[in-house]
Amino acid sequence: MTPEPRLRIAMQKSGRLSDDTQALLKRCGLKLNVSDRRLLAHVANMPIDIMRVRSSDIPGLVMDGVCDLGIVGDNTLEEAALERALMAQKSQYIRTTGLNFGGCRLSIAMPEGFDYQGIDSLNGLRFATTYPQLLNRFAKANGINIEFCLLKGSVEVAPRVGLADGICDLVSTGATLEANGLVEVEEIFRSKASLIQTVTALPAEKQAILDTLLPRIQGVMKAKESKYIMLHAPKDKIAQVSALMPGKETPTILPLAGRDDLVAVHVVATETFFWETMEQLNALGCNSILVMPIEKMMG
Ligand code: ATP
Repeated sequence: MTPEPRLRIAMQKSGRLSDDTQALLKRCGLKLNVSDRRLLAHVANMPIDIMRVRSSDIPGLVMDGVCDLGIVGDNTLEEAALERALMAQKSQYIRTTGLNFGGCRLSIAMPEGFDYQGIDSLNGLRFATTYPQLLNRFAKANGINIEFCLLKGSVEVAPRVGLADGICDLVSTGATLEANGLVEVEEIFRSKASLIQTVTALPAEKQAILDTLLPRIQGVMKAKESKYIMLHAPKDKIAQVSALMPGKETPTILPLAGRDDLVAVHVVATETFFWETMEQLNALGCNSILVMPIEKMMG
């Protein structure tokens, strides 16, 4: 008897993307135990295996069809694609969906006090980076010549120890740069995590698993961005309150026990919407405003 085909997903074993990736898969209903040291973790309730590897190995595993799917940062993906294209290796993949975690930017940073007058100030300098291909593409596009020093970690110390004039590294808050006396001068790439897929057509059974999984992932993503907002509004202000609500979302209006002057208004909206309209809602006499997370949103 041939074994049931299992969809194979590559994810980062440990690091900045691993917790969010695991949380996403668990919220999609996958029962996975990744606490052991095994490379391949079986999902107990679905025909899916999770391959836990270094982030930098994920693009190749998907491009070569060893894994059907992968969850990886756009920066890692783009660097790998450029590197493989250079070596005339297959560098195709499908970016199935963007994910809303792992946000960061790849930036050039120089020591404090460096006289930065624009991109030309970087001409002829040497940079420590983990992303030589992305930096090279930026240099070529801007007509400057630069040298690289490839470092896989602690890139930010390179200028201090005399290894390089500046760095090109991932930044999210900028705290690491500041702690190392560096100033961000150019952002060269914006990144988030993505779900990628092999270009090889999946056999029908695996495609069916993906067709189940993908709407779940999208449902979890959508829920993460949305909030369930409940508030009390004066009954005579319903029209003005409803007019503030985002276009496609119709608010639910409910009576309040023993109150003729107030109603409860419930609506699903983004947190940004809430902050942008809170003062206006208050000015209309709304109160008891509650903003709650949503677990999942389907359909
Ligand atoms: P690995 O060691 O697994 O090959 P890595 O060295 O890139 O990969 P991490 O430092 O954990 O491992 O980063 C994983 C990914 O997290 C990055 O490639 C990037 O997409 C994302 N990321 C988000 N914010 C940051 C940040 N501030 N610094 C570095 N990476 C970040």
